[in-house]
Amino acid sequence: MSTKQSKPKPEQATVRCAIYTRKSSEEGLDQEFNSLDAQRESAEAYITSQKAQGWVCSPKQYNDGGFSGGSMERPALDQLIRDIEAGEIDCVVVYKVDRLSRSLMDFSRIMDAFDAHGVSFVSVTQSFNTTSSMGRLTLNILLSFAQFEREIIGERIRDKIAAQKRKGKWTGGVPVLGYDVDRSGPSPRLVVNESEAERVRAIFDLYLEHRSLLPVVKELADRNWKNKRRETKKGRIIGDKLFDKSMLYNHLTNTLYLGLISHKGERYPGEHEAIINKDTFERVQKVLKHNGRSGGAEVRNKYGALLRGILRCKACDRAMTHTFTTSRGKHNTQYRYYRCVGAIKSGACTCPSGSLPAPDIEKVVVEEASALLTKPAVAKHVLAACPVIDKAWAKLEVKDFEGLWGCLIPREQARVLRLLIERVDFDADGGQIQVTFRSSSVGVGATNNGKEAA
Ligand SMILES: [Zn+2]
Repeated sequence: MSTKQSKPKPEQATVRCAIYTRKSSEEGLDQEFNSLDAQRESAEAYITSQKAQGWVCSPKQYNDGGFSGGSMERPALDQLIRDIEAGEIDCVVVYKVDRLSRSLMDFSRIMDAFDAHGVSFVSVTQSFNTTSSMGRLTLNILLSFAQFEREIIGERIRDKIAAQKRKGKWTGGVPVLGYDVDRSGPSPRLVVNESEAERVRAIFDLYLEHRSLLPVVKELADRNWKNKRRETKKGRIIGDKLFDKSMLYNHLTNTLYLGLISHKGERYPGEHEAIINKDTFERVQKVLKHNGRSGGAEVRNKYGALLRGILRCKACDRAMTHTFTTSRGKHNTQYRYYRCVGAIKSGACTCPSGSLPAPDIEKVVVEEASALLTKPAVAKHVLAACPVIDKAWAKLEVKDFEGLWGCLIPREQARVLRLLIERVDFDADGGQIQVTFRSSSVGVGATNNGKEAA
């Protein structure tokens, strides 16, 4: 480090030094940048070390807190220039060159003003002498680096975020439903918000139940469940909105819920707790992926296959799938059947069930279910779980099951059956249909009912 008075004044013993400090607001992101106090302390120590040369620190402070070095619009710098013009200062001391300016153009203008008044300039942490051409070259190089550094700050912040994500750290942004941000530690981290986490799990379950986005969106709207609410520092509310399909999709595919942090396609174990278990998450992804191709459960069930997924062939212990044929006559009449998967795969001769006309077996099962629905407790359970029925009931004032059933479209009917019935076994040998109700829907004393096939 060296310094030299541009105009040595032998008769004047004291060199009046002004310390200029600056810190921009965005530099607060990086702790490496020194606070105004630290800059001042360091400059004061330097001035003290030059005491023998007659250096004294001016009591006046020139601090620009929260001002960018890329602009000249700085109150403390204005004051400094005015005091230099008034002849009150002999030397300006800064911690680092870029504190004075980050722009080469601005810097040379400031230097011109200093020169005009015989004021020298010292950077505590960088060695140069502004009175020589070599010193000016050094300055230019330093400033070029300062400018370069500013340009790559954005890049460094991005790198830092990537590094933090690899370590599984939450790097900010709006937290998602189920988590809060704990800012008490050295770095913010996600903590589970229990009541919200409960909802998140319910949303995943609802999707597995409906196997389609839209019914879940409707269900969530009925429950008035909204996405994460957040208040900004300025008091603005972000989020707190009803779910739409894409918002729901984003929640259902968010690997944060698995306890992971993802970055550019890579996933890292996060510091936060998972809300959704791996099995549930993967099942949801599977259905989402499948629906992406087929357009959702409603589309696939447009033929009103009420027993899809619950009807089984007892002899083969395999599922019975829904199929249909269309007559080529004038009316294009459609005939629906349930066929045993065993029969389809291994040949009809291996299975006694063959093809069952769908309307017949559906009628039997619906009758079973309607009998169950006459029990108030069961009806209450179904109403609570199926808002669509609740509405139909209220709107049409239907008091009987048959009237209500007719109001429902096939997929709603299918939904009610799924809610009540765990499985239906078709026993071809005895011509029996065995309906197994869900214990949750019939409560204590659940029984299996057998009934002769129609
Ligand atoms: Zn079979």
